[in-house]
Parts: sequence; C-alpha cells; structure tokens
Amino acid sequence: MRERRFSPASYGGGPSSALPERKQTILKMTRTSTNLGVDGGRLWADIMALANITDAAAPYTRRSFSKLFLDGRQWLTHRFHEAGLATRIDTAGNLIGRIEGSDPQAGTIIIGSHSDTVPSGGRFDGIAGVAAGLEIARVLRERNIVLRHALEIIDFLAEEPSEYGVSCVGSRGMSGKLTAAQLQFSNQQGERLEQALARVGGDASRLAQARRTDIRAAFELHIEQGTVLEGGGIDVGLVTAIVGITRIEIVFEGAAGHAGATPMHRRHDALVAAARLVDRVRILAEEFAGRGKGYFVATTGVLEAKPNASNVIPGTARLVIDARSELREDLVEFRERLDKESLGVAQAASVERAAFQTLSDALPSACDEGLRHLLKAAAARLGLSFVDIASGAGHDAAFLSQIAPAAMVFIACKEGASHCPEEWSEPEEITAGTAVILETVLAFDRGGDQSFVPAAPH
Ligand SMILES: [Zn+2]
Repeated sequence: MRERRFSPASYGGGPSSALPERKQTILKMTRTSTNLGVDGGRLWADIMALANITDAAAPYTRRSFSKLFLDGRQWLTHRFHEAGLATRIDTAGNLIGRIEGSDPQAGTIIIGSHSDTVPSGGRFDGIAGVAAGLEIARVLRERNIVLRHALEIIDFLAEEPSEYGVSCVGSRGMSGKLTAAQLQFSNQQGERLEQALARVGGDASRLAQARRTDIRAAFELHIEQGTVLEGGGIDVGLVTAIVGITRIEIVFEGAAGHAGATPMHRRHDALVAAARLVDRVRILAEEFAGRGKGYFVATTGVLEAKPNASNVIPGTARLVIDARSELREDLVEFRERLDKESLGVAQAASVERAAFQTLSDALPSACDEGLRHLLKAAAARLGLSFVDIASGAGHDAAFLSQIAPAAMVFIACKEGASHCPEEWSEPEEITAGTAVILETVLAFDRGGDQSFVPAAPH
C-alpha cells in the first residue's frame, strides 16, 4: 500500500498556530484554555502531529503492528524522552514512559490509552488519551513536582480489533488476560499473534512479566463516541462502567457449485444460512435491548463468502458477531440463543455449521468509586461541569480495572462521530479532560493509597 506523510498544512494539523480561525477564537475565549494548568496548544499539536502519520490513501489509518504504527511509536518515544520519561516496551508490547516517584514503596499511577486506529479512523480515539498523559508528565516536570508514586504514561498495544481477531492486546497482557489460544490466532497472511508481538518489541514467551501488581490508580481520557456530553453542553463525563464485549465467529460450510447448472433443490448455499443469521442477530439484539435491564447492542460486523464469485454458489460463509452489555448474564444468554439460532439456519439451508467459536470475551467492568469521587471533586474545583456516563465502547481501562482501581474521563466529540475521518473534539474539550486528570493525580498522590478489592463482574 502506498504510504506518505501528510504535511501539517495540508490536513489542518500542526501546532495550534495553524488552527483554522474558528478554532483559534474558541481557544482564546474559553476559560479552559487559560487557567487549567495544562498547555492546550501543545497538547493539540501532539494530536495533530500523530494524525499526520497515516496511510495517505485512507486517513486516518495507523493499524496496530503496521509500519505506520511503529513510525507513530517512534515519534511518541521521542516525545516521551523530551518529557523526561524513561521508555521501554513490556513483554505485552505496551510502550511505557516512566518517571520514578519519591517513595519507592508507593507504587505506580498510570495514564494511558492507545495510538492504533481502525481503518479510516479518526485523529482522537485513543490518541487524545496518550497525548493527555504526555502533557500531564510535562506539566509536572515544568512545575518541579515530584510525585510520591511513580508515574507511567502508556500506549497500550492494539486496543482496536487487530488483524489477529483480538482487541486490547496490551492491556489484556498487562492484566494477565491474554490467553495462549489467542496468541496462536493468525492474520490473513498466516502470521500468528505471538509472532506479531515479537515484531513490535514484545515477547509472548515471557508474557507473565507484563503482569502488574504495583498499579495504585489507572486513568484514561477518551472521546465519548456518543452525543451525551455535546448534547448537554457538559465538559466531562465520568464513566461508571464499561460494557462487556463478546465476539463470536461462526462458519457455515455448504457446497460450492455452478450457479447455472445446479437446480435450486440441490443447493447447499452457505451464504443463505449466513444472511438469515444476520437478520436473527438484529432481532435478538432488539429483544435484549428492549427489556430495559441494561445497555445491550449486537452487530454482525464481518461477513465473508467463498469463493465470492458471481457465477458460483457460495460454499463457505464466515461471520463475526460483536455483542455488548453492561450485564454479564445478558451476554451469556445471547451466546446460548445465537448457538441455537445458528444451528437452526444451517439446518434450514442444508449446510453444516462448521464453527461456533468465542474469539474474545471481555467482562463488563465498573470504574473505581474512590477514583470517581476524586475526579468529581477535581472537576468541581476547576469549575467544570460533569455527568455520570456508561461506556458502550470497550477500552483498555476495562482490563486494567481487573488489577487496579481504574477510572475514565470522557470528553465530547462532534455529533458522536467516531471510527471515521470526521471524528472531532475541540481543543478546549481535550484540555479540560486532561486538567481534570492532572488535578486528580495530584490529589490521589497526596491522599495515599486506597485499599483495592477488584470489583466482581456483574
Ligand atoms: Zn479508543
């Protein structure tokens, strides 16, 4: 694929001085740009600079494990060094910038998100959270503040679903949830995840070393990917819980045959079974969502037919279904119903259901109440408005919450658009969210550790 870097000028990127006039006005006029203690212009410039490292044919694309991804990480590593952070890549492939605290026994505060994107994604999903952490590290250094805790800024590996069928590779690894089976998953070219991990500096054979017990607080800033904050004119969303996500692969095997010479009653058309199942997934999801017990959505996002030729009856069809809920029991029930439905459509279409496999299964997770309390107090001190909000998207924080107190701050994004080039957050919105985390890190560091009991999945 053709790759080239955008010059900042050609894509509206670059430092804040290159912002469109409208944005500059907003930066000057809002309170958030002047008295929140973080440098919004510098933060914005980082986000735009990373956006420039993209597949030129499909902005904004920086797929995990790709050359562009490694280019982006090289740029980030350089910025981490400039901020006085010591960098390393752990065995789960996470890029970590660290500054030691004054008390070696105090443990570590982490701030992180991800620098990878979906194909033709946006400039802010994940990236804003990494840039926010970097800006916080810089501010602390400039103010000569040495925290009691060590501070780590983390770019988690492959948060978006990777070519290997697994998302949140780095945060799964850090929390001990990356399984031996997942490491054997392979991409279209036959490369296994464990091999890809080695290519980006990780090491599957020493994966246990990435597991952490020293994290006392984990923070992630992220765009909302919805419209609650924008609609309500609210500065920040304080996340209550992150949905669990189950991804299931189903394969139907029929018989490929001549599209002209095979009579209708002799056909074993795998795509017919798949098409009927797509419709059943939609109907089931509407039923679950309609119960009103908790947030529930399901999507058939992958549908492949083979040989995919106009004059050949499809002999094989493969689907990947993504189901999300706040409630664990809904995901379990949905999987059972999908199992029955897929056997039913296979029988009706005279094909075989050759595979029914759970590719990944992330539990719903609650954000830490103690950290949420500190975030609320920080937002109030800064004069920012806030609201409690559930996350319908998965995030690295969901895995971190299984090993440490974790919390997320959402910021508004224009019309809820995400995973597309139109994705947009205003500079002062990102600045406000970053300031809330900075304030909270300072308060947490002063206040000492809380005792942490991992939340039971609900
Ligand atoms: Zn993200």
